[in-house]
Amino acid sequence: LSPLPAIGIDAGGTKIAAGLVAADGSVSDTDERPTPQRSQQEFLDALEAVVRGRLEAGPAAAVGLGVPSRIDQVAHRVVGTVHAPLAGIDLAGYIEERSGLPTFVDNDGNVAAVAEWKLGAGRGTRDFVMLTLGTGIGGGLILDGRPYRGGHGAGAELGHMVVDVDGPPCGGACRGRGHLEALASGTAAERRARELGYDGSRALVAAAHAGDARAVEALAGIGRVLGEGMVTIVNVFVPEVIAVGGGFGRAGELLLGPAREVVTSEALAPGRDIVRIVPAELGAEAGLVGAGLVALDSLAERA
Ligand SMILES: [Zn+2]
Repeated sequence: LSPLPAIGIDAGGTKIAAGLVAADGSVSDTDERPTPQRSQQEFLDALEAVVRGRLEAGPAAAVGLGVPSRIDQVAHRVVGTVHAPLAGIDLAGYIEERSGLPTFVDNDGNVAAVAEWKLGAGRGTRDFVMLTLGTGIGGGLILDGRPYRGGHGAGAELGHMVVDVDGPPCGGACRGRGHLEALASGTAAERRARELGYDGSRALVAAAHAGDARAVEALAGIGRVLGEGMVTIVNVFVPEVIAVGGGFGRAGELLLGPAREVVTSEALAPGRDIVRIVPAELGAEAGLVGAGLVALDSLAERA
């Protein structure tokens, strides 16, 4: 692996977080700024400024970018992004041209999974699944000891599995209904919280932690839906660990306890007995760390 660090960038729907990521996952020279929402050019300018800023601190071997986008790695195109103005562009080529560094672009769910697999809740496993509960639900798969991204690198969209055939529409670019994302994301929790009269999902989680039975049951209901999604994941992949992260994932056992009960009662053996359902360990830096690690790994594979 490269003795130089990579610039890891987690470009999400609300903020762009970046840092220099060494091969052992240690991070330095971090930066955080709001995601420009008005135009793709402003978004690209912000990414370029972040890369230049890191290079002022010292040399880097590569750039890794995690974006909340569907990416076609064969066509070298970001196909579309739900929560940021980014579509129809060769993002890696754009940054590579301006930085002079090899650049690798990956889905944010995939990079979070790589970070948790190498350094966090998935350490030491061969088959590991990560779910990131935020604005949407990101998914990431490590199968047989390698990241698995599906055909064209565009798969592992675990948030878009059906858990309720009569459920609400996903919205945005997704034409599906009753997907896990529509029912168990932070956005879904926000909607449920307001329906029940709480001031958003954070207030709902805080109330539940304080022992409010109605809030506990609301989160348990979301946790059971999450569990239905996990039943499918367990039946299809038989992972050793499913880790749950993201902002809403911090609800922790309020969601994971009920999810585990569903998996135990509904998933097939031996998967239901093998899987451990645990909180993610790395917190808010997982995205930028994973992006940096993916860049260093991809660079080594290219060499
Ligand atoms: Zn969907």
